[in-house]
This record gives sequence, structure tokens and C-alpha cells, in this order.
Amino acid sequence: MTNRTFLCGARLIDGVNPPQNDMVVVINDDRIMKVSSKAKAPAPRKKDTVYNLDGMALMPGMAFCHYHPAYDNVNSLQEIDLKHPPTKLTLIAAKNAELLLNCGYTMSVGAGAAHFIDVVLRDSINSGLIPGPRIMACGRDVVTTGDSVDSHPKWWGLGLQGLAKVCDGPDEFRRAVREEIANGVDIVKLYPTGGHGLPNDSEFLSMSEEEIHVAVRTAHERGAKIRGHLISQRGIKIALEAGIDVVDHGDGLDDECIELFLKSGSYLAPSLYFPSRLVSGYLSGEAPGIASMIPELEHTLENHPAKVKRAHDAGVPIVIGDDFGFGSLMPHGDYAKELAVYPDLCGVSNLEVIKWATHNGAALQGRLDELGTIAEGKLADLLVVDGDPSKDLRVLQDRNNLKMIMKGGDVVRCSMTRSEESELAGSYR
Ligand SMILES: [Zn+2]
Repeated sequence: MTNRTFLCGARLIDGVNPPQNDMVVVINDDRIMKVSSKAKAPAPRKKDTVYNLDGMALMPGMAFCHYHPAYDNVNSLQEIDLKHPPTKLTLIAAKNAELLLNCGYTMSVGAGAAHFIDVVLRDSINSGLIPGPRIMACGRDVVTTGDSVDSHPKWWGLGLQGLAKVCDGPDEFRRAVREEIANGVDIVKLYPTGGHGLPNDSEFLSMSEEEIHVAVRTAHERGAKIRGHLISQRGIKIALEAGIDVVDHGDGLDDECIELFLKSGSYLAPSLYFPSRLVSGYLSGEAPGIASMIPELEHTLENHPAKVKRAHDAGVPIVIGDDFGFGSLMPHGDYAKELAVYPDLCGVSNLEVIKWATHNGAALQGRLDELGTIAEGKLADLLVVDGDPSKDLRVLQDRNNLKMIMKGGDVVRCSMTRSEESELAGSYR
């Protein structure tokens, strides 16, 4: 029989239910074997590892569902493509993926990665070569000629093979999506509109309705998911009618879009930290160079939070994740700062945001049967938090408060000491 790990006396935040105090979670190998009150918990044996959590919070590992590990704190679209050779960028992305895991995110869903770096990371993490979260890999940005991402001046004579796949017309989109999947991508990224920090404005629709429909259909035919940078109401509507899986940002959504979300079962990744941080950073003088982006981001900040709340109340599943690594104001490692903007700006509860960050993230990946909540039989992706994130999500911003991070039963990091055997006499019998 394998050794078990007992996490005792926790304030359990399981990802869906209200917190429960004084709970015991038993992990056997890579799975959660038992979740119960102290009175009903099995007794630990001599060889078992026991930690007394003393009321610390125990919650599922989080899912970061809009991730760019290969954005190396870049300041322009061109830098995403040209700042580093692919070999160095891969190493940087590997360090970022490890950092994400150390920030409490045991899962990530890519939102665009040059040179198929996400795919290499996913496979290297899964084989045990490097540490990191479970990755749903994204690939190049699939865009049309003249799209915001197609930004290298033409006289440079440079292709965009690393960052993007430029294609026009339904046939080329079909081929491009198939190429992404052939390169190992799990979720394809489209850029149907401008806006939300891009040079072209939000009403700029760079893909035809037919191209969007073909791209979505092709991804689904091959068993992949597909997401889109979607800002204008028109763009969001077309993409949802096509059945896109994730609407990124979604600044222009309205009640009609909410209806379409509910019909298609699509997820919204509102990424509200980006406009919030850029506007506050600009106003405080930290980033004077982003003046041209500010009016549109201020407009988003004024309007989007109420829409996100409305979508949430209507039942649209929301996931978290944002454009960390883009600009000096959003460095890698600040990931958990995103969480608090939703209670602050949208008026949703901390527990609802925790559900977005755990349950909804696993559901988006189609892995809710084994991840996303703390329940018997699921994989043991867990966080022990010194503090109560159900009362204040800011406790997750300080990595010192993450006393244990566990992924699939493996302890990624731990700053707690095991309880001595004598302390356990008579416990949990
Ligand atoms: Zn992004």
C-alpha cells in the first residue's frame, strides 16, 4: 500500500461550495482519496505523512486560462516576434511556466505562443523534464494580411512564421488551422478584431464571417478548441454564432451576445487587470509611453465590469487569465493580482472568482471530471494558503502565503513541517 498524505484541520474551499472548517483531505498517490470532517476521517498510519493546517485554507490549484509564457515583458507586437531567437525564448518561457506553477496555478490554457513554444513546454512538463503547470497548448496567432498582428513593415521583407500564420480566404484558414493542430496545438488563436491594446481599433474586423466559421468548424472537426481576440459587439456575435470556445476580452458584449454565449456554451476571459493596470500605471506616471492606448482602455474600464457581472449573473462561464508579459506594468509573477479586480470592479464575490479560477478553468479544458475542485477521486492539485482567500483574494498575491503547492499528489513546494507521530495519537479515529 502506498503512503498517504493527510492535510488536517483545513478551512476547505473546494471550488464550488461555501468554505467548511476543520476538514481533512487524504491524498493517496496522485489522487484525492478522502474529503471529510475530522470525525469521519480515517486514522493515519505510521508511514503516512501528516500536516496540521491549523485553519489555513485548502483550495484547488488554479487555472490560468489566458496565458502567454513566451511574452518576455515585451513593449510591442514586433518584440513578441523578434526580441529573442526561438531557442532563448523557449528557455525564458520555461522559467515563466515554472513561475506560474509557483504562484499557485497548476493549469494553464495558452492564448498564443510564438514558435509553438507552448507545445514544447506542455510535452516537456508532462514528461518530467521541467517543472510547470498542466498546459493546454496554443500556437501561432492565426490572422489575415494587414491585421494588427501582421505588423512588420513590409519593406523589412520579413515573414511572421514565428509569431503568426497569415492567411486569407476560407481555404487558407482551413489549412492554417490544420497546420496548427498538426504542430501539436490544443487550442487555436484567432484575431478577428482590433481593440484592447491593439493598433487597429475595436470595430476593425479583420476576418470575414466565412473565414471565422471555417476556422471554428475545422478546429472542432479535429478535436481542438479555438479562441479569439474579440472586442466589438459585431465580432463577438459572429464568433459566438460560429461556436468559438473562448471569447478573449469581450469588451463590447451586450445582452444579445450573452444570449449567444448561453446558446453556444462558450467561455468569457474578460482579462480586466490589463486595462485596470495600464490606466492606473499611466495616471501615476509609471508608463508615459502608452498614452495612445489609454482612451480606449478607460472606456473599457467604465463599461466592461458591469457587463462582466451581467454575463456572470446570466450564467456565462467566466475564466481568469490575462496578458502578463506585455509591457513593464504587467510582469510575469504578478498573475494573482488579476483576481482581486473582479470583486473590486464587478462586485462579484471572492468565492465566485475562486470558482472561475478553479472549477471553470478545468471545465473549459474538458477536465472537470479529474481537476478543478477538491473531491474524492480527483487528481490532487491543491494549494495550502496561510490566510483566507474567500475573505480577501489578495492573500494569494504573496507567494510566501502559499504554504504548499501540490500537483498530481507531488509536492511542488512546501514550507510547512510535518506533524510528529506523537501529536497524532488518538486523532481521527
Ligand atoms: Zn493575450
